[in-house]
Amino acid sequence: MSIPEFDLPFMIQSPENSPGTIAPGLVLLEPGSLALAAERQSAYALTCGALQPISTEYEFIEIAGVQILVRILANLALKEAANRQQSKMAQTEGKPQNPFLPYDPDLFVADITSTHLCLLNKFNVVDHHLLIVTRDFEAQTQALNGYDFLALAVCLAEVEGLAFYNGGQAAGASQPHKHLQLVPLPLAPVGEPIPIAPLVDAALAKAEFTQVPELPFRHQVARLDQSAPLPLVDRVLELHDRYRQLMAAVGLPCQGAVGEAQPGAYNLLVTRQWMMVVPRRQERAGPIAVNSLGFAGAMLVRDRAHLQQLRDYGPLMVLQQVGYPK
Ligand code: AMP
Repeated sequence: MSIPEFDLPFMIQSPENSPGTIAPGLVLLEPGSLALAAERQSAYALTCGALQPISTEYEFIEIAGVQILVRILANLALKEAANRQQSKMAQTEGKPQNPFLPYDPDLFVADITSTHLCLLNKFNVVDHHLLIVTRDFEAQTQALNGYDFLALAVCLAEVEGLAFYNGGQAAGASQPHKHLQLVPLPLAPVGEPIPIAPLVDAALAKAEFTQVPELPFRHQVARLDQSAPLPLVDRVLELHDRYRQLMAAVGLPCQGAVGEAQPGAYNLLVTRQWMMVVPRRQERAGPIAVNSLGFAGAMLVRDRAHLQQLRDYGPLMVLQQVGYPK
């Protein structure tokens, strides 16, 4: 019997099973090693200057019973200079520059699978911000497939964090090479580990596939069981199935097959307990740019003037404007 690719889109093998060959879906990460590797590499990359953290102050805005975390950027200059340099090089060379291919070896954390590796985010706002990047070029506007979810399941088992994907420029992606991201929890030293998590938990206590009544933007959320002692293959299938169900529920149906174009821009948020999809129509509301973290209740503004604008307009209204009304 042949199995459709989207039902079993990967193979999981240990290196001993296939000496000398690397099969798609081969897990390469040594279990239990990712967090330590990220810590060690961060310390090294800081000393050699490869890592250029962006420092921020933060405040909270209370809305709908949620404390929205707002970070105020302090030193964007380095990242902006790098972006200008990337555009200039692209013009000179007549093709887009790709910071992930080749990647900076000083930012390399670990091989995850035969298709994905893990890098440090060069301009990190939180410590140990990981990028889960495809080895070969794939577009950020392709649907996520089984190989992406295999790499994600492996990383999520290692790091208790919030994983996310900015599907396309309108969803906040700045790089066209496919990269999932993973930030360890908590997102800030005080407050909820993820600001919107209490609302999500309350909604998921009533139904396993639902919407959060307090959130005014179009979205869908589903319960996950990634902490359960299930075989890796089952956890990957759970992620892949839930992704396709959520995408369909928000009007972006896809199969999650290799090479498939995404039907539209969206943000994906994943913890061990839940997954959320938010369709997007624009990158920013006025001066405020939003990526997946915004929908987790962690927003970022350039300066105090923009913080005031965010307060005046209301964070939930900003999220509704960059997404769609319910
Ligand atoms: P996004 O903006 O969501 O597409 O995520 C891409 C991330 O890549 C950004 O957060 C950047 O900080 C980060 N980045 C940019 N250049 C590099 C680089 N050379 N190496 C590693 N990360 C980078």
